[in-house]
Amino acid sequence: MASLTFYGGAGEIGGNKILLEDEGTRVYLDFGQSFDFGEDYFYEYLQPRSANGLECYFEFGLVPEVPKLYSKQMLRFTSLPYEKPDIDAVFITHHHSDHTGHLSFLDEDIPVYMGHCTHKILEVYKELYRGLGDIGEHSNLNTFKSGDEIPIKHLTFRPVHVEHSTPGAYGYIIDSPDGSIVFTGDFRRHGPMKELTEDFINEAAKSKPYCMVCEGTRMTPDPEKQYTEEQVYEKVLGIIEDSNGMVFGEFSMCNIDRFKSFYRAAIESGRKLVIDTKYAYILDSLKDKLGLPDVRTDENLKVYYRLSKTCQFCETDYYKYEREYMKNMITYKELKKNPKNYVMHTNFNKLMELIYLRPEKAEYIYSSSEHFLEGEDNKDQREVRDNWLKHFGITLHKAHCSGHAGKSDLEYAIKKINPEILIPIHTQNPEEFEKIYENVRIPAKGGMIKV
Ligand SMILES: [Zn+2]
Ligand SMILES: [Zn+2]
Repeated sequence: MASLTFYGGAGEIGGNKILLEDEGTRVYLDFGQSFDFGEDYFYEYLQPRSANGLECYFEFGLVPEVPKLYSKQMLRFTSLPYEKPDIDAVFITHHHSDHTGHLSFLDEDIPVYMGHCTHKILEVYKELYRGLGDIGEHSNLNTFKSGDEIPIKHLTFRPVHVEHSTPGAYGYIIDSPDGSIVFTGDFRRHGPMKELTEDFINEAAKSKPYCMVCEGTRMTPDPEKQYTEEQVYEKVLGIIEDSNGMVFGEFSMCNIDRFKSFYRAAIESGRKLVIDTKYAYILDSLKDKLGLPDVRTDENLKVYYRLSKTCQFCETDYYKYEREYMKNMITYKELKKNPKNYVMHTNFNKLMELIYLRPEKAEYIYSSSEHFLEGEDNKDQREVRDNWLKHFGITLHKAHCSGHAGKSDLEYAIKKINPEILIPIHTQNPEEFEKIYENVRIPAKGGMIKV
């Protein structure tokens, strides 16, 4: 008999940290950080000292005090003694922090498995942004691709790709002599890579699982309208075609499907897509794995160099990695002169460039999670953004679709996979699953379900 213990991901969106135990084999499925992690105790500069490891997190019960799991370094100032780990593996579904954020706490000898693209993205993020993407030291880090079979004692882990708002996302089919458990990770099936999710659903159905652990981010009582990535592309294209000035697009840099939608829309409307040097480095690093355009030479892309030190756009003004793309350079001068020729990727922290660009009749397409656009938590930041847009007379638009399956696609996946037991995670509305499926078991945070 197997059991699942939900240290995170139960009754919350994100924070997946699920222990699977089966006849003495112990494996974690994801090891993420909750989105609201620490917000009851930490604020602005009131933050735990990283040198103190897990001490502060244990104090407030923010990280479970589980023996034989964390590194010596992390336990130094805690009352939990260090013991050699008894965990056979940690399997990661994708790079988002709500699935990987606490990997740095683990004992470095615990074997960690992740997709090769997930590993690459984490490496690139760590290089570009200190702290972000830092998963700590792991002496036994393994990468896989879809279709691999990974034996962990008497269990076999089969990662199968799924479509999500970032590349390199996987679900798992876990086979044991008693049958199979299916773990979906985060997924959707309304984008250009929906066949990936279809492959996963078909493989999962074939295994006739006795248990399915399913994400339910968008399992809400009143489902919102379902937009597809193609509809986002069409909306973006319409806004660009109607515009008489510069068009700015704000979207997550790892959302490669969204990058492709903006890239296509820019080309279709006779414009070039402008990205900054960090984004150029990300695309350059993932180019071979994902078949992306070459940022050094692609004539539909331009790499934006900010004004720096000498104000001369000299090589030495920029970091070494940035100098790689100077042949495809664009500066504020050209953008200011011919704004109608460009669509520019941006985000909140890059609003300062508007001082140099001084756009007239520009559009700003917000194409990222609605959380920022509508959430109460981000009110102050949103007001600052809106003040900048108002000051420069820029019109705000919205074009987005979620990285998660809507209610009808969740229902489709569950009914097709048809597990004996369904466990909803990564959702605030687990009880909604009971309306569409018979044998639902709702997990509690820290609680165990025997399956
Ligand atoms: Zn997630
Ligand atoms: Zn995710």
